[in-house]
Parts: sequence; C-alpha cells; structure tokens
Amino acid sequence: MNTAEATRQIYWNISHPWAMYPLLLITGVVAGYGIYRHFSRWRRGLPVNRLDRRAERIKLVFKHAVAQQRTARNIYVGFFHRLITYGFVVLTIATTVVALDADFGTSIMRGNFYLYFQSFTVDVFGALVMVGTGMAAARRYIARPKKLVYTNESALILFSIFLLCLQGFLVEGWRIAATDDPWRAWSPFGNLFAYASSATMSIGAMQWAHWATWWFHLATTLAFMAWIPYTKMMHIFTAPLNIYTANLVPLGATLKNIDFEKTETFGVNSLKGFTWKDLVDFDACTECGRCTAVCPAHAVGKELSPRDIIIQLRDFMHENPRDAFGLVAAKNEAALTPADGEPTVDVEAKPPLAIIGTVPATAPEALWQCTTCAACMEACPVFIEQMPKIVDMRRFLVMEEAEFPDSMQAAVLSLEKRGHPYSGTQATRVDWTKDLNVKHISDAQDAEVLLWTGCGGSLIERNQKVTRATALLLEQAGVNFAILGRDEKCSGDPARRIGNEFLFETLAQENVKNLNKYQVKKVITACPHCFNTFKNEYPQYGGMFEVYHHSEYLAKLVADGKIKPITESEQKITFHDPCYLGRQNGVYEAPRELVQISTRKKSIEMERSRNKSFCCGGGGGMSFVDEPADKRVNQNRAQEAIDTGADVLAVGCPFCMTMMEDGINARKGEKDIRVMDVSELLWEASKPKEEISPQINTDGHRYIRKEQTNLLLITDVTQESFQSAMRTHLIAGG
Ligand code: SF4
Ligand code: SF4
Repeated sequence: MNTAEATRQIYWNISHPWAMYPLLLITGVVAGYGIYRHFSRWRRGLPVNRLDRRAERIKLVFKHAVAQQRTARNIYVGFFHRLITYGFVVLTIATTVVALDADFGTSIMRGNFYLYFQSFTVDVFGALVMVGTGMAAARRYIARPKKLVYTNESALILFSIFLLCLQGFLVEGWRIAATDDPWRAWSPFGNLFAYASSATMSIGAMQWAHWATWWFHLATTLAFMAWIPYTKMMHIFTAPLNIYTANLVPLGATLKNIDFEKTETFGVNSLKGFTWKDLVDFDACTECGRCTAVCPAHAVGKELSPRDIIIQLRDFMHENPRDAFGLVAAKNEAALTPADGEPTVDVEAKPPLAIIGTVPATAPEALWQCTTCAACMEACPVFIEQMPKIVDMRRFLVMEEAEFPDSMQAAVLSLEKRGHPYSGTQATRVDWTKDLNVKHISDAQDAEVLLWTGCGGSLIERNQKVTRATALLLEQAGVNFAILGRDEKCSGDPARRIGNEFLFETLAQENVKNLNKYQVKKVITACPHCFNTFKNEYPQYGGMFEVYHHSEYLAKLVADGKIKPITESEQKITFHDPCYLGRQNGVYEAPRELVQISTRKKSIEMERSRNKSFCCGGGGGMSFVDEPADKRVNQNRAQEAIDTGADVLAVGCPFCMTMMEDGINARKGEKDIRVMDVSELLWEASKPKEEISPQINTDGHRYIRKEQTNLLLITDVTQESFQSAMRTHLIAGG
C-alpha cells in the first residue's frame, strides 16, 4: 500500500454534518457566558500589577502549567494529570485538524501525517486519557485521601471524560470494521474495538451504532465543553492564567502594603477588598487539598484549612455575586438581569456582605491559627496566595474591630509601649553583652556590619546565648561589628503578621531612620523574621541594606578561613528549617554547612525539611498564644525531630528555639536531645580549646577552671585580672 494515499473519509455514515455547527454555536454562547461571568467578577477586584516581567511569567507557565512541575511532586498524581492534560491537548489538535480538512479544504489528513499523528498518536493519547482518568478515579474512590473534596461534580467530571474517550473509540472501531479500513493497524485501540465488534455485530448493526454514537458523542462533547466554565474544570484556563499572574517575589515578601492616606477600610472583610488577582485565585483552585495537607495548624487538628478558605470564598463569590460585591441593579434593568443575579450594570452600590465568619472557613478562630508559614503557598500547584488573604482578614479584625486574641493584644500593646513584644521580660537589650567587647554603632561608626539582635536574641535568656555565640564568632573572625543596643526596636514582623499594619509601619520607619542615621550598609541577624523584614519589606521604607542571616555570614567566614573550627563532636544532629529563612527566602544550605562543620557524624534530615519543612508553630504571632494542650504545632515537630534519633536539634531562629525547646521537653521522655542554634554549634567547634569559664564561689570571689582538664579552682582571680582573662580567652556563656 502506498502510504502517501493514506486517509479516511471524514463524516463517513453521517448525513447533515452541518447540523453540528449550530450546536457548536450554542456551546460557544453558553461557555462564553460562563467565562464572561468569571471576568465580570474578577474586574470588581482592586488593581494590582501582575502583568509585568513577561518573559519570567511565560517561563513560569511553561514550568508549572505545561510541564506541571509542582503537580508532579506527587508522582502518581503528576503522572495521571499529565496523561489527561496532554491527551486532551492532542485530541483537541486532532479535532481541529479534522475541521481544517473538512471545512477549509486543507486536505492535510493525508499520508504520513494522517498515519503517524491523526491515527496512531491520537489513538494512543485517547487511550492514555482513559488510563489517567482510571488512575484518578482509583485514587479518589479507593485510596480516598483525606485532603480531596468529594463532590458529585468531581465524580461526574471523571465519568464524563472516560465516557467521551470510550465513545471516540467505539465510533472509530465501528467505522474501521464496517469499512474494512486498510489503515486500521495505525489505530491500535480503535482496531481492537473493530475486531471485537466484527465478531459480535453485523455490518448493518455497526453502521447504526456508529451513526447513533457519533451524534451522541457530538452532543455530550459539546455539553461537556459548555459545562467547563461552570465547574472546577475552569482551572484548565484559570490555572495557567493564575500562574502567569503569580507574585514573582519571594514568599516572604507577599504581604500587601496599605496606603493609609488613601484607604478607607483597613484590611479585608468583603470580596471588594481583594485585588482582581485574589479573585482569580478563587477560580483557579483545583480542590487538590495540598495546601491544607501541609498546613501545620490543620495537621494538629485545628479548624484552619487554607483549601476551604479558597473554595468557600469562591462559592460565596459565585452563589450571590450581587450581595457579595454590594451591587444593585437599576429598576428598569431588572428584566435584563440574568438568572444568577449578576446585574449587567453596576448602577448603585450597597454595603457588600461581610465574609469573616459568614464564610465558615474564615471564622476568626481559624484565622488566628495561622502561623504564616507559607507552606500552603509553596505547595499549591497553581500558585494561589492563601496566607496573604488570611493576613488581609486579620488586618480587618485588628485595625477595624480591635478583635483579636488577648495574648496577641498583650504583645501588640508591649510593642507599642516598649518596642518589643514581651510583657514580662526583666532584661534589657544590652544585657547579653555583659563581659563582651561589643560596641554601640555610635561608638563604632567605621563598623563594617551591624549585628541586629532582634527582640528574642536580646531579651530572652536562652536566645541571648545564641547572640553571644554569634558575637564571639564575629570577634574571633576579626569582623568589625557593632549593635544598635537600646536604640533597636522590634523589626515589626509580629505586628505585621498579627495584622497591625499601622504599628508595623511605625516600627519599620523608626528602625530604618535609625539605621540610615548611622549609615548602616550591612546587617547580620540570627532571627529569620527580622532577616525577612529587612530583606523584603524595609526597602519600601527606604531601608536598602545588604542583609545576611547569621548562618550565611558565619558560613562565609568559615569558607574564607576566618573562623577555623578545631573540634568536631560525635553528636547526631538534625536541622529544623525556619519557615522565614528556608521556604520564604530560599536559604537552605548555609545552616546545614554549619551543622556539618560541627560534627563528625552525617547530619540527619527530617522527612519534612527544606521547602517542605514543618513550622515550629511560632510564626504569625502564634508564639504569644497559648495553644490547647492537645493541638500544639511545636510538639508535632518536636516528635519528628526526636524520632530521627538525633542528639541535637539544630535551629536558626529565636522563635524556633523557644517553640522547639518547649516541644522537646514535652515529648522527649527519657530521651536526651538538646536544642541548639547553629551559631552555638559552630562556637562549640571553634572556641579556643583552653577556654576558661567563670565561676562565682560562695565567698564572692571569681574563679576560673580549665575545661580541657576539668580541674576546678585553678586560680582565685581578682576582679581586674578576671576581666583581663575574659578579654583574652573569649568566654562564651556566663
Ligand atoms: S500559612 Fe501556614 S499556617 Fe497559615 S494557612 Fe498556610 S499552611 Fe496554614
Ligand atoms: S488552594 Fe491550591 S493547593 Fe489548595 S486546594 Fe486549591 S489548588 Fe490545591
């Protein structure tokens, strides 16, 4: 056979095929109206620029909409989702080719193209769509993961896709068998149906079945297409759009600024308070449940579910758009108003419906459970921004209603009064410098870096040790550094995450002004929250600093040979990634390098590590909240660390230090596991071997002992010589 002649008769056995065009038109109108409905709602959102940096956005679409990299993090899901998506793309191209050939006289369904693409490839991809649908159904109805949403709509979608493909093969099989198609081998799956039919049906029966099924296939396919914009399948269009319009900044920089001069209502309590991109987010949700599955609050049994917030706000937007957006139709326009209640003209505004609490998933109790860890955003395959919406709603509760948990109120009050969030602390911001040679920036204008201690690092006793270790390491490396001391105020991170944007702005402006006064260029901090604020949020207030987490700076000093670790322990160490360092700013390696420097043993990774790290429970103001004893995020994480069998849980954040120590103490039982900051580990490895530790005896004299030999009371030193010894020997701790 001459393959150049290969083709098939389009519309074989079908009379009046033109009838499908009016049906197609109806489909277009119904689907078009569905799409218009979405646009008409999105355009009610506030403006935001998400159409810049086009090249980056297109790249993102290729990576996550076309290649589906995030979806494929779950191998099984990624596999069947790609089968269905790519299969549909191939089937759509094939249908277009048929239309071009039949209606535009292109005659392209010929020869090798017909055989290799239109017959073989299309046949295989049609079968793969069925396999993909079967895998999806098996997961949904046999494995039944908890994170999915089980609706009739989802079941009907899977059933429809499977049925449409099956119809295609039946129609193809009956045509092949009835016409004894000479190119039948190029359509392997259609051919199977053909053989099966030939064995059981007469030619006449096959012709009739072909005719009836062809029209049924056409009708159901068109109905399916018209249905898409009214279901979650709309994500076929909204997912790529949402990925294209994603926020291209690090996750730590995703909170919106408020223009206090122009804004009337602070925070969000109606759909009108969201941007158009937030509204697109709602329609892009695929209901995969990944966000809720990784949410630490949800994992310990709390009410918060980022998936439900998105889905329920979406339904709220579509079920009653007129009230949700506060729209009133003109009296004489009522007749023109479509059945779904969306007026065609927004002629008069009325107060939009409140969302907080009206939409069950946005109940205040749930909103106050968010640690702002951003795990939900990182997990979402279509780049929905759940956490900023939660903070938007918190802002409303805090700034408009003054309704937020008492313990958070105490922290906010303390921030306003004292510049730090702790109510009971007796320490001052410079207590940790006792016996150390640390200068205030005003006495060290030539300092190359500023060590920003943060409230935890300067006021919480346990974290003061971390700050001391960092200072000692900087001193050992010969770094000319200084501190802001009593002039340092909270970076504003807790205020911002709790929802008090006004307080955050005040603190940010004050700190930036202070730092600029001393012409600070480089900042090091052991607090990832301060690190994130300096790096991602202070530039908007004129704070343009080179910012380093202490782990990054110390790792560089080691690499440059300025810190020379001299001992390695035998400890097994596991590292807990702080959310604001790792997931939100992409710093994963530096703290791990410090861990590995300090021990001979290979460090252990917890299952939930790096971008999948599980929150300590202390972000978003949650470290100031007393959680129910049976729903503590820190204990969940502590258990994971204990289960690794590590001797040390390494951290790189003062909040993590507090939360993890509490969690470990609650869960460790007989096990011996300590929580240490990475700088403490490095200092342990780098401090001079003959380190001396001060002892204060009952007689009031100070003594020193050599740790190397562990001999007690080698010398009774005078106050003067003691201080001189301190300077000489770089004493850590106290
Ligand atoms: S930011 Fe974290 S705690 Fe908040 S909803 Fe997302 S996953 Fe849950
Ligand atoms: S918000 Fe994103 S991660 Fe959550 S259910 Fe929807 S698509 Fe999935």
